[in-house]
Amino acid sequence: MKKSHQSALASLKRKLPGRVFTDPESCFAASLDNLRLSFAPDAVVKVRQASDVGVLLQLANQYKVPVTARGAGSSATGSAVPLRGGWALDLSALDSIRIDAVARIATVGAGAITAELQAQAEALGLFFPPDPSSKKYTTLGGNIACNAGGMRCVKYGVTRDYVLGLEGYLADGSPFKFGLPLKKYVSGLNLRDLLIGSEGTLGIVTQAAIKLLPKPEKRWTGMFAFKSEAAALKAVVALFKQGHNPSILEFLDRQSVGCAEAYTGKTIFPGHSRASILLIELDGTASELRQQRRALLDFMAERAVAQREARTEAAAEKLWQVRRTCSQSMFSLADTKLNEDVVVPLEKQAELIRYTLQLKKEIGLATPTFGHAGDGNLHVHIMYNRSSQVEAARAKAGIYKLMERVVELGGVITGEHGIGLAKIPFMPLQHTKSEIAAMRTVKAALDPKGILNPGKMFDSFEVWEHEPVDVRLPWDHR
Ligand SMILES: Cc1cc2nc3c(=O)[nH]c(=O)nc-3n(C[C@H](O)[C@H](O)[C@H](O)COP(=O)(O)OP(=O)(O)OC[C@H]3O[C@@H](n4cnc5c(N)ncnc54)[C@H](O)[C@@H]3O)c2cc1C
Repeated sequence: MKKSHQSALASLKRKLPGRVFTDPESCFAASLDNLRLSFAPDAVVKVRQASDVGVLLQLANQYKVPVTARGAGSSATGSAVPLRGGWALDLSALDSIRIDAVARIATVGAGAITAELQAQAEALGLFFPPDPSSKKYTTLGGNIACNAGGMRCVKYGVTRDYVLGLEGYLADGSPFKFGLPLKKYVSGLNLRDLLIGSEGTLGIVTQAAIKLLPKPEKRWTGMFAFKSEAAALKAVVALFKQGHNPSILEFLDRQSVGCAEAYTGKTIFPGHSRASILLIELDGTASELRQQRRALLDFMAERAVAQREARTEAAAEKLWQVRRTCSQSMFSLADTKLNEDVVVPLEKQAELIRYTLQLKKEIGLATPTFGHAGDGNLHVHIMYNRSSQVEAARAKAGIYKLMERVVELGGVITGEHGIGLAKIPFMPLQHTKSEIAAMRTVKAALDPKGILNPGKMFDSFEVWEHEPVDVRLPWDHR
């Protein structure tokens, strides 16, 4: 550790007694996220109150110590990894949740758990729709920093659509309030939205004001089988053309369904093994649902080869289990999964799937794909065995080809997970030099010494040159 960083650490320990940890276990735990590349910080700082963040940043800025904010560490891209060492800033203790049920606004600490906010809102008849599948673990701070999405985005939008105000600290330790717990706010430049999705590179969020909706009265789930991916994805486009408004619209390709069927030993739609599947949720009042359900079943009767519907919560849970099983069951194909979260225009999804099948042949690796077809956000997976250098090289080549194709189709390299470390090589595919220069200018203006999450987004990094650690994380079910 640099001498100046040693002095900074000694000073930090004095100013925040009992909150600074340098033991190997704490540093290892904060060294990685779900990308599983480990870069240890010099210290982990577990703040107890928002003002601790200001104290820490003043010192870090003075001594140029890198600071990497951390919620639950579930990032899929390495964005929470303290690549350049320094201090890992653990915000998980800032977990307060207060709900104003009249204004329908929650004031949450950055460390509050997403599912806990949802549960508390629902108890008051309210609803926080963004639902990353990691929501039992993730923090609102992490969701905001990654602009997290999930299954309900098709009707309800992403995290950004619910953030009214952010409180926190800039890189030099000065406090900010961008936005307030108010439904309308147009004062000054909108730096709130600049911080959302900035992956901890522009400022640290300590508290957020979150808009809530009335909880939908009822939900209904249906599952539909199609002969091919093209037929399923054509139905997705037609469904919107006809004015349907599902709250969830998930797609599973035949490779994914094949994995789930092999894993459970059961055919999902008897008589139609390895079908491509759409899983659809509708929500609303009882009378709205009756009408929507009838219209959807009529629509599907002409297109799907088979259908099932859930009339109770328990039956719906069984249908959703199919989606969850797909994810786990892919590991029967190979021990390592590259999970990409690309987005293409709705009409181009069928073309993307055709490309994943072509890619499967070209690289000789399985490419099961499922995802949020309602917003064009498909999780394309490339499965390979890590011990095989040949397979690893093919997987790497496959990801580069996939990203090029996505951009050619008018899409984006990431719709949920963000850039972090993993997507750095693809930034020049997505953005022009002048776009990247503009982003760097913003970064330099807000963090002139480059202490906030350095090495992320713009620098060069190649995931394949680093060996992942074999560690079990809380969300691992294998
Ligand atoms: C099993 C699994 C399923 C997932 N499913 C989804 C999904 O459906 N949709 C989706 O969008 N993502 C998904 N993810 C990715 C991940 O869960 C999300 O990106 C989530 O928002 C990260 O939250 P976190 O609290 O774990 O943040 P972390 O991983 O700790 O941090 C993520 C980034 O946010 C920054 N950060 C954290 N807190 C703050 C703060 N207070 N202020 C400033 N910056 C901060 C960090 O520096 C880092 O750059 C999934 C991940 C896993 C492991």
